Amino acid sequence: HIFTKFEIKNLIQEVVNFMAPQALMQNINATINFEVDHTRKILGDRNLLKQVFINSIKNAIEAMSHGGNIYINISDMRDKPYVCISIEDQGYGIEEKVLERIFDPFFTTKAYGTGLGLSHINKVIGEHGGNIEVSSTVGKGTTFKFYLPLHNGNK
Ligand code: ADP
Ligand code: MG
Repeated sequence: HIFTKFEIKNLIQEVVNFMAPQALMQNINATINFEVDHTRKILGDRNLLKQVFINSIKNAIEAMSHGGNIYINISDMRDKPYVCISIEDQGYGIEEKVLERIFDPFFTTKAYGTGLGLSHINKVIGEHGGNIEVSSTVGKGTTFKFYLPLHNGNK
């Protein structure tokens, strides 16, 4: 892995721009919310993390067959030197029984899924000293929260 120091906001913006055409074709709108002066940096493998967020937004799009919104939020944590990137969709949601298995390699509920997206996401976020939280309501949507440590002293 190649670790560099970079702005998380720029990375997320790039990912959203990259995914916008695919989202639009499915009547999905993705919006990012962050403080205007957010310049927080993290130390990480930028390409690997880019794949993480592309895959996560892909999953959100695939869960939203009727269109809708994806809300992406970048926020600082009050008491820890971490940044939180949350991706909230209005898709079909995840049943509790399924939720337990989504990070397992090759686990998929899709006819043509590989089931490798989230296991890879989990591995990469772990390698960056981060963690993931998922909450979901069947029929309403799913939110993935990614916590990543900020680069030293960059508050
Ligand atoms: P794949 O997308 O190939 O199925 P993933 O590892 O990316 O593999 O996801 C595993 C499973 O987790 C999916 O098949 C789906 O059941 C569930 N999942 C992941 N993201 C979402 C989401 N945003 N909404 C609903 N289900 C999801
Ligand atoms: Mg996937």
